Amino acid sequence: MPRSESRPRSRAAREKALSALAERVAQCTRCQELAETRTQTVFGVGNPQAQVMFVGEAPGADEDKQGEPFVGRAGQLLNKIIEACGWKREDIYICNILRCRPPGNRNPSPKEAANCREYLDGQISTVDPDYIVCWGTIAAQNLLDTTETIGKLRGRFMEYGRAKVLCTYHPSYLLRNPSAKKPVWEDMQLLLKEMGLEPPPQK
Ligand code: SF4
Repeated sequence: MPRSESRPRSRAAREKALSALAERVAQCTRCQELAETRTQTVFGVGNPQAQVMFVGEAPGADEDKQGEPFVGRAGQLLNKIIEACGWKREDIYICNILRCRPPGNRNPSPKEAANCREYLDGQISTVDPDYIVCWGTIAAQNLLDTTETIGKLRGRFMEYGRAKVLCTYHPSYLLRNPSAKKPVWEDMQLLLKEMGLEPPPQK
């Protein structure tokens, strides 16, 4: 997936900026409850020059254990979606609205999302993706500062900074509602088309 050359900045410079930010995040105690209950912070992973960034909700139990976003069952489904698009997981940059697990996998509070926004914006401005995919209501509503439902937000592009933003259902929702796979695949096809790419033939 070649990245547009609109903003050349070396991979090494981006990696350095991201690891400095990750070090700050690892020490962060802005959300007292989360800081006291997390195993570790879950910063983000992937290509620091990615053309596409994925933003999810918050780490779950598996992510909290492993320190990487989207590694549980929902992450495995996300990997299948990535593969179906003809990409590799390492082509994408993947992070969440929150960098700490909310106990019991409850939704992030607005205060927690606001606390963590500086780090999300730091990742977005460093990676500087052309496209952002928001996976699920929490990601979409927080990034775009809207109360619209995911059903209304999906299926079209919006903007955040210079990135085009596409919202779709969270993979964990797809695990509970397999019929939602169809609209998600339609959204991914919309993204591929906008990028001038063709999805590979499905096996
Ligand atoms: S969720 Fe974000 S802001 Fe809150 S403690 Fe964790 S890193 Fe800090």
